[in-house]
Amino acid sequence: ATIHGDTVYDADVVIVGSGAGGATLAAELAECGLDVVMIEEGRYYTTRDFTADASGMIRQLYRDGGASMAIGDPPVLFQEGRTVGGSTVVNGGMSWRTPERILERWRREAGIANIEMRDMEAYFARVEKRINVRHQDPESIGHDNALLKQGADAKGWRVIPNLRNQVHCPGSNNCAFGCPTGAKQSALVSYVPRALHFGARLLSDVKVDKILMHGKRAIGVSGHVVGEDDRKSHRVVVRAKLVVSACGAIQTPALLARSGIRTPSGRLGKNLSLHPNVKLVATFDEPVRGWEGVHQAYQVREFEGEGLLFAAVNIPPGVLAMTTNGRGAELGRLMADYDKMVVAGMLCEDTATGRVRSINGRPQAFYQLAQFDAEKLIRGVALLSELLFAAGARSIITPFAHVPALERHDDTRTLYDRTIKRSQMEVVTVHMMGTAAMGRDRTRAVTDDHGFVHDADRLMVCDASLFPTPIGVNPMETIMALATRAAAHVLDNVSRYQ
Ligand SMILES: Cc1cc2nc3c(=O)[nH]c(=O)nc-3n(C[C@H](O)[C@H](O)[C@H](O)COP(=O)(O)OP(=O)(O)OC[C@H]3O[C@@H](n4cnc5c(N)ncnc54)[C@H](O)[C@@H]3O)c2cc1C
Repeated sequence: ATIHGDTVYDADVVIVGSGAGGATLAAELAECGLDVVMIEEGRYYTTRDFTADASGMIRQLYRDGGASMAIGDPPVLFQEGRTVGGSTVVNGGMSWRTPERILERWRREAGIANIEMRDMEAYFARVEKRINVRHQDPESIGHDNALLKQGADAKGWRVIPNLRNQVHCPGSNNCAFGCPTGAKQSALVSYVPRALHFGARLLSDVKVDKILMHGKRAIGVSGHVVGEDDRKSHRVVVRAKLVVSACGAIQTPALLARSGIRTPSGRLGKNLSLHPNVKLVATFDEPVRGWEGVHQAYQVREFEGEGLLFAAVNIPPGVLAMTTNGRGAELGRLMADYDKMVVAGMLCEDTATGRVRSINGRPQAFYQLAQFDAEKLIRGVALLSELLFAAGARSIITPFAHVPALERHDDTRTLYDRTIKRSQMEVVTVHMMGTAAMGRDRTRAVTDDHGFVHDADRLMVCDASLFPTPIGVNPMETIMALATRAAAHVLDNVSRYQ
């Protein structure tokens, strides 16, 4: 809707954020007859708007141009989508169920009821149907991924084809800049249109400033239209019987905090996990043309038990040059071999937790990488280098400053012998989780078993903030399954909200 003046809307449910959590919940509730308003700060782009102009797309689809930073040693660069469909519009499409051991841990440590695999099975299946979770068509897999698999096979390591939410994805390798073919079934082309079909309303370009409270009861939200150059325009108020924050694990705690919400646990914004991620750049003698074919067609799962997953992730040359160790002519020489590169990355299930503070109403993340996790990353880089040499790599640039390029297999061992400080590590992430964690105990958790904020009424969180712990796999499907589960709970008590 285009909003021409200050406006007040009424609804049964207002959901702030239209990403993995928000769009899923909106569709599930609208389908069962609830009057839902979704509010999204970002713009409503369509598939036709998405191009291979990486820097232009980053400016349009990502918050802060994709350059958000968690303060720590090392600082961790992180990215959040800011557009209708949220981060699902720019994500890689990996779609994995929460590992059983994690669900069991949530039951055991957070006391969450009905969260085990047998309880979640139907929710996962429903999500997988809605977003079409499938293996890639084989012809969409490029040579960089074939080399990753070849290396894993040579080492005898477990490697599996990735499951992705897509319909005959041709492998244009543009996931991170909006899918130009519409093959990726992001929330933009799955749950958002489904919600609209069932009568939900969507207010895009509207930023929610505050949740409106009457005592402990949430009664609506107030915000403003985001005008050109992010200027504040008309005021928007939505009054509702249920208020949901689905802004993601960085924005949700800030929204709750600036709305004056205090939880008995004092844990709002704490418990931030990040799945710290590092990348290696391997150069081969043969042409690789890593931009051809889908990225992350496979995952190396051999070290899953240690909390490490490996994958090949082609990165556009401009972004790669900006984020790779090296400078001047040396960097120029490296980039001249762009067509011979395999860029590989890893996901690390972390043990440290950071926090999001609300400073003048804006979130600022703080995260200190644990020494244990730093050592795990060094081991991961050594192992992944072994794999890449086994696949035929000529040299490998590590994510560690002042560590010379690895030129042969035996060099991988030197990584264990050197002192590599955390400050030398170039760490990034796209998986922020846990800042309004679920848990039965109100003195330890921010939200209850279904995401209702402890000690508040009619106020719910429905996004990655809910995770009590990191999950060790890509989080989108877990968020969507938890949203589906939360919707079922709301619908069980539907008379409260209509
Ligand atoms: C580049 C990238 C690649 C990724 N790859 C994968 C992958 O392959 N597989 C996977 O499982 N996960 C992946 N992820 C992570 C996954 O996409 C996210 O974990 C997931 O989308 C988070 O869901 P969410 O509902 O918590 O938040 P989001 O999906 O980020 O949605 C939050 C929405 O809320 C909006 N919002 C925030 N504050 C306000 C406000 N005040 N007012 C109005 N709107 C607001 C935001 O603009 C945003 O659109 C990736 C993420 C990124 C960024």
